[in-house]
Amino acid sequence: MLDLTVQSQEAADRLGDGILELAKYRETARPGWTREVFSEAYRESRQWVSGRMAAAGLEVQVDSAGNIVGRLAGTDPKAPALVTGSHTDTVDGGGRFDGVVGVLGALEAVQLLRESGQRLSRDLLVVDFLGEESNAFGLSCLGSRAIAGELTPADFDRQDYRGASLGQAYRDFGLDPAAVLQTRWARTAPLHAFIELHIEQGPTLEQRQLPLGIVTAITGIERLVATFTGSPDHAGTRPMNDRKDAMVAAAEAVLSVRREGCGAPNHGVATTTRIESESRSPNVVPSLVRMTSEVRSVDTAWLSGVRGRLAEEILANARNLGVDVEFDWTTDNTVVHAHPRIHDVAAAAADAIGIPWMPIPSGATHDAVHMAALAPMGMIFVPSRAGKSHCPEEWTDFADIATGVGALAQTLTLLDRTEPSPADLT
Ligand SMILES: [Zn+2]
Repeated sequence: MLDLTVQSQEAADRLGDGILELAKYRETARPGWTREVFSEAYRESRQWVSGRMAAAGLEVQVDSAGNIVGRLAGTDPKAPALVTGSHTDTVDGGGRFDGVVGVLGALEAVQLLRESGQRLSRDLLVVDFLGEESNAFGLSCLGSRAIAGELTPADFDRQDYRGASLGQAYRDFGLDPAAVLQTRWARTAPLHAFIELHIEQGPTLEQRQLPLGIVTAITGIERLVATFTGSPDHAGTRPMNDRKDAMVAAAEAVLSVRREGCGAPNHGVATTTRIESESRSPNVVPSLVRMTSEVRSVDTAWLSGVRGRLAEEILANARNLGVDVEFDWTTDNTVVHAHPRIHDVAAAAADAIGIPWMPIPSGATHDAVHMAALAPMGMIFVPSRAGKSHCPEEWTDFADIATGVGALAQTLTLLDRTEPSPADLT
């Protein structure tokens, strides 16, 4: 078992220094701590990350999908590797902790293992996944999708608002899209387990005053674009009881979406992010309005019913107003459950070193969603101050990160000794 009492203050200091140093690589013209994928700041920061991995004693490579991979050799070269890591890109106007904690925390876990004289029998791969955040091309988790074999040639045709393609962005960054498509890791070697340390990005752990969350599942996301078609009329002469007002139907639908989220039996959230009216005139009853919403939950049964429930309510309200509705749904992510074995090992690790924890769902998506296709997956959360994330105020106390690192290191130690169960191999 790891003794965390001596190391934790030193670990917190080192983590703090590293996080603040990496945050210096930012796009100065953008707000907050912006380091978007493919930006110059991101390119430069990756040199720093590679150097940091090498300094931690890892053998560093960049795979053909652009993931930075640091390998700590184990004593048994034939044993399937353990994998941990996260990402170092940010959203526009983002913070310093999202993703960074999982990469620098993994390096600190390596340090902790070394200081306590523990040598893993398996190789440990620490990965800084390329471009986890959703980007101008509307695709998140570029690096983890690639190694899970979930990128397609059509993805490289996606365009940003200037009409530039994702494929060109890869080429400008020095990566060949054809090689990216060939990166799939499972072709080369099986993996033993994947565990990602991350900030919670929500308020639950802080509210419960708990230092650690062990993730049960990562949310599924259903996205809706609803188009409301009414009738354009003079806003001054058409009586109120004789209108087909698409805006009013959309407004009712916004409330239906909100009610749906509030009524979820377990974790569930529903948000309308956009309302667009085709009407340009201030004196015409709106006749064409588009609404963009999303619904998230880790409850598969509830989420699978959301399309039907919302369609029924929105349609009934719109019909009362004489407005037609068309629904365009897409599933952005299905619910991905943490592997029960990885969850249980992480829980046993936290118990062994005396860290209180709670099971927690993840309302945000992560590289772990895609890594679950390659290996039994789990995640460990540390608290986010006031639950703030994807904003400059994002903060986690360095001591809390060090606690998470202790749990990660102990989890890696236990996973190293855990044999796969037959269920893991199916
Ligand atoms: Zn993240």
